[in-house]
Parts: sequence; structure tokens; C-alpha cells
Amino acid sequence: MSGEARKIRLIMELRRSGIADTRVLSAIERIPREAFVPQTFQDQAYENIALPIGKGQTVSQPLVVALMTQALAPGERMKVLEIGTGSGYQAAVLSRLCRRLYTIERHKSLLVEAEHRLRRLGLHNITAKSGDGMRGWPEQAPFDRILVTAAAPEIPGQLLVQLAEGGVMVLPVGAQGGDQEVLRIRKTAGTPEVERLFPVRFVPLLPGEGEA
Ligand code: SAH
Repeated sequence: MSGEARKIRLIMELRRSGIADTRVLSAIERIPREAFVPQTFQDQAYENIALPIGKGQTVSQPLVVALMTQALAPGERMKVLEIGTGSGYQAAVLSRLCRRLYTIERHKSLLVEAEHRLRRLGLHNITAKSGDGMRGWPEQAPFDRILVTAAAPEIPGQLLVQLAEGGVMVLPVGAQGGDQEVLRIRKTAGTPEVERLFPVRFVPLLPGEGEA
């Protein structure tokens, strides 16, 4: 089967699994996932599975990327923050759906590779840095949307502070290897509104910078 045929099959699978947002589907169709996975996994780039990207990390399963992006509902004029750049794939998808995408990765080597890929693909509305994403990016706050792609034991307070009024944050919460679920938090004037969306399995959100 050709790469293009595999990609079409994946898009159809995402539709069947409840991805109805056509902006999300077309962003996934336009971003070549094969550019974000190692050479050895090229033939699996359009399978609906997570794949290793080095440093013990993974690029998420396409359905999880689609579900989280759909739940986030980024608008084309919005400023969005992603925590956990990894391969840069989720950042690339988000960048097609918002005005400016900021992304933070704790492993410098992963960040450097991701930045190369994003530049090569001509995705110029992305600003990336290495560091501890749990602290957010105060100089660029507030953000209309925040997406976290690693599981935290609880909602990181600094991120909630950096979310705009009326803003939305989507993140997996739960123990490593245990039960985790994706939450959607809407920041309103009073207490933030929390919705439980679906179960997932993510690598952990870790404090500080990764080793070289
Ligand atoms: N969004 C990525 C996949 C994320 S895997 C993609 O599309 O490929 C989770 C990533 O979060 C890993 O690369 C891991 O190093 C990173 N991470 C974990 N804790 C972090 C933290 N505190 N700050 C920034 N990045 C973190």
C-alpha cells in the first residue's frame, strides 16, 4: 500500500472513531507524520499507534492527537502553548489551526531535532524552547489554549495561571503506568470548570531539564 493510501485509511479510521472536526482532519491530512518518526518506523507512520522517538519518549497515537486537538478547539487567531514537544508532530498539527504556537521540551536533543523538522516543513508560526514546561512560558502568557502531552500527577498550577480568562487547557492527569485520563479545563471567572474526557496512557511530565 502506498503512503498516500495508508494516510487516507488513517483519516477514515479517525472519522469512524469520532473525529468530526474537519479542520482537525485536514490538519492531520496535511502534516506528513513520516517526517516525525525514525527511519526504522517509516512504514508504520500512518498506523494508528504511538511510535518511539528516542530518549524513552513516544510520538502519540494519531487518534489521541486528533481527540486532544478536537477537545482543545483552537481558533485561527489564538495563541497556543504546548508542553512536551517530543518529535514536534502535535506542534505541527496545532500550528495549522492557530495564529502562533509555543512549545516547550525538557530534552534539548529532542527539541533540536523537532525544530529542524518544523523548519524543513516550512511551519514558521512555531516558537520552541527547552526547559521545564510545568513552569509554562510566563513572558508569552496569557495563552488562549494550553495542551499538555505528558501526564502530570495533578493540574500544574503555573499553567492554569498562564491560561487566559475563558481559555481552555487539555491535559492527561494520573500516575505513571496507572490510570490516566484526559481532562478539559475551562478557566472562568470563578472556579475552573473541569470535564473528564477519556482514558489514556502517556509518558510522565517530569520536572527540570532532561540529561544531555
Ligand atoms: N507531543 C509529542 C509527544 C510527547 S511525548 C509529539 O507530538 O511527538 C511527551 C514529551 O514530553 C516528551 O518528549 C518528554 O520529554 C516531554 N516532557 C516531559 N516532561 C516535561 C516537562 N516538564 N517540560 C517539557 N517537556 C516535558
